[in-house]
Amino acid sequence: MRKKRRKNKAVFALMVIALLFMGAFFLWLDLPEQVRSYFDLSAIEEEYDTEVFPEEPFEDAAKEAQEVNDPFAETEKKETPEKDLDEPKEMDEQENLEDQPLEPSENEMAGSYNDFKVIADGDYYLALVTKETTLKSNYKPTGLEALPSYMNPSYPMWLRWEALEHLEKLWAAAKEDGILFSIRSAYRSYETQEQIFKDFVSQYGEEEANRFSARPGQSEHQLGTTVDFGGTEVDFKTQFGQTPLGRWLAQNAHHYGFAKSYPQGKEHITGYIYEPWHFRYIGVSQARQWKQSGLTLNQYLEQQPQEFE
Ligand SMILES: [Zn+2]
Repeated sequence: MRKKRRKNKAVFALMVIALLFMGAFFLWLDLPEQVRSYFDLSAIEEEYDTEVFPEEPFEDAAKEAQEVNDPFAETEKKETPEKDLDEPKEMDEQENLEDQPLEPSENEMAGSYNDFKVIADGDYYLALVTKETTLKSNYKPTGLEALPSYMNPSYPMWLRWEALEHLEKLWAAAKEDGILFSIRSAYRSYETQEQIFKDFVSQYGEEEANRFSARPGQSEHQLGTTVDFGGTEVDFKTQFGQTPLGRWLAQNAHHYGFAKSYPQGKEHITGYIYEPWHFRYIGVSQARQWKQSGLTLNQYLEQQPQEFE
């Protein structure tokens, strides 16, 4: 009798413990992603750069309902559509732009050309575009072609045809490996970059803004050979590098001529925070040599012949 009672007590205790575990487990499932991430130290360390300084939340916020977590999403949603829609127009009206009176910004840039090396012709695939070297405000790449709709651009986008041809090959190879993506940003004109940078400066101040956003003339996107990959829930965030897509790109993009411009922990060399989504086409053999060199892209390009004015 006493034995049985003791046995009942033990069973009861076990059931209580089991219930406690189940309760804890369900609580855990309910916790929001951010709270859970506090248990992942690396995620927290990375969060500083990405949450506070997303590269291009203009495109980022454009139509991503899933990014409710992004503290910037609400404010930028209002600004985005106009900016994005402006870009195609800009392309059509490019000729008219030249007839317009000089904008103040162009005067400013002309003055500061003294501080930078000016790239003679950005059409050169290995042109060095950094914080010390600049494309001209009127530089527009030759041979821009529209991205196909299957790449899911959120608005009309362009790349130079050779870069696009290789991006299509990259797309097909990724798809074979079960990796799908969308393109979040491609060619950006000087004027678009100028507007983006100006907006960030007003939010963060010039020095902070320039850690994740290029000054006009200094964006690789103006070359028409650069893309921002996306289609994950962490687009434009450091965590993108840990997604299957981010990993696949890091391992394979160079086989299709694309180099990752801003690797992790190299801000002191590249001038920009880690951007695992940002890739620039430099040609297949060059990209393979770059990969083998172990150098950052800007270090590699510094070793190639450059033409400055
Ligand atoms: Zn980019």
